[in-house]
Amino acid sequence: MPHKKLLIRDNEEITPGYFLMKIQSPEIAKDSSPGQFLHIKCSASNHYLLRRPLSIHQVIDGKYVEILYKIVGKGTDWLSKRKRGEKLDCIGPLGNGFRLIKSEIVFVAGGIGIAPLIFLAEKIAKTDRLASITAFIGAKTKDEILCADKLKKLRATVHIATEDGSLGYKGLVSNLFKNNLSSVVCRLSSVIYACGPKGMLKEIALLSQKYKIPCQVSFEQFMGCGIGICNACVIRTKYGYKKVCKDGPVFDTEEIDWSKI
Ligand SMILES: Cc1cc2nc3c(=O)[nH]c(=O)nc-3n(C[C@H](O)[C@H](O)[C@H](O)COP(=O)(O)OP(=O)(O)OC[C@H]3O[C@@H](n4cnc5c(N)ncnc54)[C@H](O)[C@@H]3O)c2cc1C
Repeated sequence: MPHKKLLIRDNEEITPGYFLMKIQSPEIAKDSSPGQFLHIKCSASNHYLLRRPLSIHQVIDGKYVEILYKIVGKGTDWLSKRKRGEKLDCIGPLGNGFRLIKSEIVFVAGGIGIAPLIFLAEKIAKTDRLASITAFIGAKTKDEILCADKLKKLRATVHIATEDGSLGYKGLVSNLFKNNLSSVVCRLSSVIYACGPKGMLKEIALLSQKYKIPCQVSFEQFMGCGIGICNACVIRTKYGYKKVCKDGPVFDTEEIDWSKI
């Protein structure tokens, strides 16, 4: 997979600590599908050797890709300081992405886990006009609830949870989802797509298995090479170890050995 030096068209702080970056690349825009990610070099020198994986958040006008990211450490902090007109060293699109299988779509997103689901929502809106999307999105506070408006524009019904109760349901998004489970379970063609912290994914996975609802989860795992060579990102599945960067980041919940997570 060749490195590409891509032009940054925009890098805007949309709420404190969260940035939306627009990158020019008709090639990546054409080749990427929802759930895939870019592996980005987050330093000008080789100071931080490892690239950082960031999901493709949206594809715009067939020639730009956007990433939506939260500053958590040195790499994302460096990224947040990049300006329009600078170039960024990216590899991608990488990973497998989500599979579209049914038409009653349920999203569960914790924090920045919303990032890849917007691209998926757009794809669903374009390809299956009859599909419905019900989204459960959660964050610590209302300022960290991202993309609710984007989802509504894509005809999604949005339920919000905040841990401090500043918006919507007070508590974890997994609990909000659980409280609304009956409406999901009673629909025969439901499928769940979830992205967020591992604890949340596990809760949603176990519920989906209990009620026999197909569910795909995207893991935000530590990663080394991003292309399946170094084994830094392996997770235990029922069929042996798999690499999040190459076999994932999206997995069927049935595949995962949740007792080890
Ligand atoms: C496939 C994939 C897609 C991702 N998509 C997005 C996205 O769209 N937007 C976004 O904001 N983040 C995303 N992440 C997480 C993102 O890669 C990490 O936040 C980033 O690598 C942190 O780099 P850093 O140098 O800023 O932090 P570091 O200095 O490396 O670490 C700072 C803190 O963040 C934690 N951390 C670091 N890397 C990860 C990781 N991969 N997962 C969980 N915790 C981590 C560490 O425990 C540490 O406490 C994704 C991760 C994966 C694997």
